[in-house]
Amino acid sequence: MVPDKSVDDIDAEIKLFKTALEGVRADMRNLSTKLATQLRPEERALFDVYQMMLDDASLGNEVKTVIKTGQWAQGALRQVVSDHVNRFELMDDAYLRERASDVRDLGRRLLAYLQEDRSTNLVYPDNTILISEELTATMLGEVPEGKLVGLVSVLGSGNSHVAILARAMGIPTVMGLVDLPYSKVDGIDMIVDGHRGEVFTNPSEVLRKQYAEVVEEEKQLALGLDSLRELPCVTTDGHRVPLLVNTGLLADVARAQQRGAEGVGLYRTEVPFMINQRFPSEKEQLAIYREQLQAFHPLPVTMRSLDIGGDKSLSYFPIKEDNPFLGWRGIRVTLDHPEIFLVQTRAMLKASEGLNNLRILLPMISGTHELEEALHLIHRAWGEVRDEGADVPMPPIGVMIEIPAAVYQAKELARQVDFLSVGSNDLTQYLLAVDRNNPRVADLYDYLHPAVLQALQHVVRDAHAEGKPVSICGEMAGDPAAAVLLMAMGFDSLSMNATNLPKVKWMLRQVELSMAKDLLAELMTIDNPQVIHSSLQLALKNLGLTRMINPASAKTL
Ligand code: PEP
Ligand code: MG
Repeated sequence: MVPDKSVDDIDAEIKLFKTALEGVRADMRNLSTKLATQLRPEERALFDVYQMMLDDASLGNEVKTVIKTGQWAQGALRQVVSDHVNRFELMDDAYLRERASDVRDLGRRLLAYLQEDRSTNLVYPDNTILISEELTATMLGEVPEGKLVGLVSVLGSGNSHVAILARAMGIPTVMGLVDLPYSKVDGIDMIVDGHRGEVFTNPSEVLRKQYAEVVEEEKQLALGLDSLRELPCVTTDGHRVPLLVNTGLLADVARAQQRGAEGVGLYRTEVPFMINQRFPSEKEQLAIYREQLQAFHPLPVTMRSLDIGGDKSLSYFPIKEDNPFLGWRGIRVTLDHPEIFLVQTRAMLKASEGLNNLRILLPMISGTHELEEALHLIHRAWGEVRDEGADVPMPPIGVMIEIPAAVYQAKELARQVDFLSVGSNDLTQYLLAVDRNNPRVADLYDYLHPAVLQALQHVVRDAHAEGKPVSICGEMAGDPAAAVLLMAMGFDSLSMNATNLPKVKWMLRQVELSMAKDLLAELMTIDNPQVIHSSLQLALKNLGLTRMINPASAKTL
């Protein structure tokens, strides 16, 4: 979405627009000539229509008129194009309604020229807050490192994948701010409160001062937590809980190491795929995976096979569905495209040669049939790379428990693999039937819901009954209060974003396992999620442990 922006130099803006017009006109002429042999004359007539629309008497002139009111070219173009699109879309005649897409297409082409001109000299100021209608993984990398201090998105919620990445980067983010007039906020001062999910535009001096104090306090807190880096995560009664980290972005590696992670519990391999412009080759993947494995060696790195679909799309492999979270996602895509799965597994195996710290994790498994198919492919890839001369052992394989069906098949699944890992983000979404990406129902998304807690307990019990370890790698594991309960349930390790790892460690080092078990037993008898929340907060408060508890609601970060 292009924002409004006023300009002083109107002539310069008109000149920019004229250059864009000429660019698009030339493109249209070239396209028309290129397609001359492939299109019928009446189809080619469309290009003449486009040329006419760009004329002074039509769109071109209207945009110039708006620029003359002091609006920049991109804003004027957006205004004129959306007026036309709206008008066409309201027409009864199907042919005329179709013209709306022509106008939109022309608008996009003109905008591309205007942005090309701008992007070369776009300077990001210090303390940049990035605001967008829909935040994407690529946008996170757009602002130079060190300059990005806040993110605001109109669409999505705190449980969206892009929010998880932002949280891992430690950047205050507010998602699902549906009422934000985002075209009107360019260049203004703003405070982004990621804890409460609030944004303040043009804040008063008093508010600025208040928030400056909060920022300072958080800095001090982080400094205090630094001292925990070398200390183990162990309760006061001697129970040890390994804390691992979730990674995806390259920057996560350094952050994880600074915070003393004991390995990677979830490497989201789709992140490098999302940032790319095409499927990375086996060689390219090998290099990326080798970097991860080497960075943490000899600690384990759990690599998840490609989990695209849902809210994680690849521009070069578009999936259009009505219910993407219930559709073609994760293992379903890669089993339908074994070539993608095989190349990825081969790259992982080859990357682990000589390091032997690889573990492979399979996402979105709904039953043993999918697991067996995936295991078959992994064995095939393993055979291939060994035939090619790579000396690698078979890595431990794990299944993600994130679909309710898998909860009830945990025993059967555990029997066939080396470990289980609960994806509480998706498990919560599917158990409660709350789209993790939809801001309207974000308040209903609650991993402390009694049904979720019971499912988690069930999985731990069944995994242990089969003698297999079970970890958890959803965002819940990074919530210090929830981590107390997860430890009490018997999870063998917790994997979380690097930002929260020191907070969880601080919390678990303050508590006794026996106390945590008593608390869990008490909370498991409560049927109301709100009461569970308040009882948990109260119990930790009584122990003097409120320092690490976020006031963040489900909607925020
Ligand atoms: C989960 O679903 O809990 C999980 C860890 O995977 P993701 O958030 O990438 O879907
Ligand atoms: Mg998931």
